[in-house]
Amino acid sequence: MTVNLLDFDAQGLEAYVAGLGEPRFRARQVLRWIHQCGESDFARMTDLAKSLRGRLASEADVRAPQVVGDSLAADGTRKWLVKVDGANAVETVFIPERARGTLCISSQAGCVLDCAFCATGKQGFNRNLSTAEIVGQLWLARNALEGSGAAREATRAITNVVMMGMGEPLLNLDQVLPALRLMLDDHAYGLSRRRVTVSTSGVVPAMDRLREECPVALAVSLHAPQDALRDQLVPLNRKYPLRVLLAACNRYLERAPRDFVTFEYVMLDGVNDSDAQARELAGIARRVRSKFNLIPFNPFSGTAFRRSPAERIQRFAEILQSAGVTVTTRKTRGDGIDAACGQLAGDVSDRTRRTRVTRRLRPAAELNA
Ligand code: SAH
Ligand code: SF4
Repeated sequence: MTVNLLDFDAQGLEAYVAGLGEPRFRARQVLRWIHQCGESDFARMTDLAKSLRGRLASEADVRAPQVVGDSLAADGTRKWLVKVDGANAVETVFIPERARGTLCISSQAGCVLDCAFCATGKQGFNRNLSTAEIVGQLWLARNALEGSGAAREATRAITNVVMMGMGEPLLNLDQVLPALRLMLDDHAYGLSRRRVTVSTSGVVPAMDRLREECPVALAVSLHAPQDALRDQLVPLNRKYPLRVLLAACNRYLERAPRDFVTFEYVMLDGVNDSDAQARELAGIARRVRSKFNLIPFNPFSGTAFRRSPAERIQRFAEILQSAGVTVTTRKTRGDGIDAACGQLAGDVSDRTRRTRVTRRLRPAAELNA
């Protein structure tokens, strides 16, 4: 098997290039070709010596995962189904807005954490994605949206990246960190730390590690103001309860590129959307500098949860606002292509044997192609 250069951040590529007996600055050139130009053909990397191009062609490649599905919603949201191996495919979503374009990336095939309201969690877990499979989603999406090589458009379609697709990024930090470094690297994607967001359901030790090694914007999936309910909705809470999680948020803020944590809060009818719960959340906002992002629940087949009515969400937001909390309500995007938060299911071959809902199976031929 040849070496996949998408697995390397700048440091990794320098080490690889040094191993070929080449000077370090060659790594920077190769990085630019791959990530800034979206080039995968070494023959077209014209400022590299012919001998190096030949060497790379024989022992390395730029191998992004294969796109096996591509759907576009009426609002411009686009979803790719990306095959990562013969048995698993994950989903990547592009969400265009007036002033920015956000790419939502997956970090695992499935998820072990089994949150009660999440389609990814319900389908079980297969494996961690590699760095190449994670950053490869950005590589693919840019090529699809902006073209590649010399023809790449000067205006950027993707201005923000959020690790909010399938999986828990902080349970796959070894592979996620090099991908994040590439997103930030001026010779690769050059995004600012404020425009790259990691979303976690609260893996406390990994929050501390991210803070040390690569602090980017942080979103924390809160979903309940008290441990008893959060234990039910986000089972990981039994390991890292609210007191411990909120302390980790405050430690993170010491290094964070933004001076607040975003608390995500899925609005579940009759479960976590009462006036009293809104007031309790305001208490949490007094303990951690934060903004709240209310996410209307997105249903999927087999779930018993319902989305809170629009008036309830509005009232909930007003209570928070009147307590001085900044609140936004997430617009539901990608209607008709199942591209909204929590609906991403891909095709995961479950190894946990706890799948409880009928999975949306695609024809096997598609995956084995
Ligand atoms: N594992 C990470 C990131 C992926 S989930 C995390 O849990 O934070 C991204 C966001 O979508 C999380 O806030 C998650 O709680 C939310 N989500 C999951 N299922 C949802 C659903 N059915 N409707 C709305 N939001 C959902
Ligand atoms: Fe995993 Fe996040 Fe879904 Fe929970 S919400 S099951 S942590 S992907």
